[in-house]
Amino acid sequence: MNIHEYQAHALFEKFGVPSPKGYPAASVADFDAALAKLPDGPVVVKSQIHAGGRGKGTFTDGFKGGVKVCKTKAEAREMATKMLGNTLVTLQTGAAGRKVQTIYFTPACDIKKEYYLSILLDRASSRPVIVVSTEGGMSIEDVAHNTPEKIIKVLVDPAIGLADYQVRQLIFALGFNPAEAKNATKLIKALYTMFWETDASMVEINPLITTKDDQVMALDAKVGFDDNALFRHSEIVALRDLNEEDSKEIEASKYGLSYIALDGNIACLVNGAGLAMSTMDIIKHFGGTPANFLDVGGGASKDQVVAAFKIILGDPNVKGILVNIFGGIMDCNVIASGVVEAVKEVGLELPLVVRLEGNNVEAGKTTLNSSGLKLVSGDTMADAAQKIVKLVSAA
Ligand code: ADP
Ligand code: MG
Repeated sequence: MNIHEYQAHALFEKFGVPSPKGYPAASVADFDAALAKLPDGPVVVKSQIHAGGRGKGTFTDGFKGGVKVCKTKAEAREMATKMLGNTLVTLQTGAAGRKVQTIYFTPACDIKKEYYLSILLDRASSRPVIVVSTEGGMSIEDVAHNTPEKIIKVLVDPAIGLADYQVRQLIFALGFNPAEAKNATKLIKALYTMFWETDASMVEINPLITTKDDQVMALDAKVGFDDNALFRHSEIVALRDLNEEDSKEIEASKYGLSYIALDGNIACLVNGAGLAMSTMDIIKHFGGTPANFLDVGGGASKDQVVAAFKIILGDPNVKGILVNIFGGIMDCNVIASGVVEAVKEVGLELPLVVRLEGNNVEAGKTTLNSSGLKLVSGDTMADAAQKIVKLVSAA
């Protein structure tokens, strides 16, 4: 789950990471109140979307720049009015862009130099990695490609935490003067604490800046959290902005389903992530392409199965469905009843192959067979996969 920059700044404040004190506004009527809270002087107007590259982005009506440094509050108000409700396209949004629904006003900082700082999870070493560079404010992918020696990484042992010598390594790599070094040390330690305690998966600050009076501050903020840890962070779940997420994936998460849309045309409804992966593999093996990953989980209810089936049927790319269930904890009849109920509600014109095995399988088969549903049974995984691939390619 990702959050907006203004929400990230509020978290920074809580953990003692210095950043400009700004105010968000979600309607033109609220602009003046937000601007009134800022000190006089230059103001930065920032479009709030879950994507970077806003400064260099272009709105679909041709207006350029999703981040604007303005000399006065009046100018800031005018720029904000052009951005709010407008659709911003950046290198990270895709061609469709994202509609700006909140504007963030912050005081402009007198920047001495821009740096890059992020903390991520390094999956290869199973450790948090802190990444820094003196080349801040620009695309870090370009820096990594053109001048990889300018990217410095420090791996943190999660059992020990961030050690002082590691912070010194980072500070040295960034070439700070003693006053900056002192401030940067505090900032890096506070940021690591935030990363760790909130179960973040990514905190990216680009740019981290120094000012003429040697302050060190996080200007930009891109923060994401590990979905699997959200259950213990209700204060973070409250920051979720559904406008920024794929509607099918939102629907799936409401029902506790693990769903990821893919490019193919054979939808899969499966219980268990391992079985879901092997079902996708076997579809590929027999020449088909999966339309999604969908794991209804070990103990899915009928409501969850109905929701899952409706999400699948709502995807226009889907040309056939394979239900592949191994009932260990799962009761096959719950799946069967869910499928029958979903089809009753939304209809089914596509070929459907069902393979059920395990707990209460006979009752499940009876439910399906007596429903009058037009479906094809598969005896084994291979048999079911071959059948759905054949039906979809014949259609
Ligand atoms: P994005 O990365 O999405 O383009 P940023 O927040 O990094 O958005 O803003 C783009 C650029 O705008 C920054 O690299 C910085 O040069 C400038 N900028 C952003 N916030 C401020 C600020 N508070 N004061 C001065 N300049 C800023
Ligand atoms: Mg940036």
